Amino acid sequence: MKIISTEGFIISTTKYGESSKILNIFTKEYGVIGVISKGCTGSKSVLKNVSERFIYAKFNISYKEGKLSTLISADIINYFKNIRSDIILIAYLTYITELTSDVFKQNNDLQIYDLFISSLIKIEENLDPLVITNILETKYLNYLGVGLNLDSCAKCGNKNIVSISHKEGGFLCKNCYDNTGFTNRGALKNIRLYYYVDISKITKLDIKDETKREIDSFLNHYYKDYTGLYIKSKEFLNNLKKY
Ligand SMILES: [Zn+2]
Repeated sequence: MKIISTEGFIISTTKYGESSKILNIFTKEYGVIGVISKGCTGSKSVLKNVSERFIYAKFNISYKEGKLSTLISADIINYFKNIRSDIILIAYLTYITELTSDVFKQNNDLQIYDLFISSLIKIEENLDPLVITNILETKYLNYLGVGLNLDSCAKCGNKNIVSISHKEGGFLCKNCYDNTGFTNRGALKNIRLYYYVDISKITKLDIKDETKREIDSFLNHYYKDYTGLYIKSKEFLNNLKKY
């Protein structure tokens, strides 16, 4: 057992015993760990407010590798006040959290943590939640082993791109075009941008509604057909989306 201090985000919580909870925390340095927050449901507990789902904090933990660790204290880093005050943004937060948890189960790369937190911060800063979510989804494809080829035609390598294909997992040239995917120039340019942009450095987004819609629809289909992931909260989010 050792005492660790790490930033992390509470993905989910489960009630444990009379007054405790097990927190499932995605940490920056240790991946996803199970931590017991003892007595945290009691009204006087100092752990009460930091033992909830979606808390992003610096956690001090009595850490036992591979076993249940114990929460000592936590200092909130960002409460995501804007996100929490908007039902649509909460739907995005819920979806992104579930997606991230599933992606990390398939690939324990800790870069996933940084992509995830950067995305939440950008949504909190009022950047378009749909675009930020689509950027994150585009990047996660790499970690799921179904990354897109967005540098040249996925079939023949030609640079004269006219569309993007689900089946080929990337751009297609005029000769290889198979009538699927989209051909909107703005969307082709932007999905490549989504793939390569550093999320933490985005300060503004100026993307046409039609472009957003094309890319979102492509990613929805691609996720459904090629990732094997089923995220419960996605359907709810899709019903709320206003393009
Ligand atoms: Zn080609």
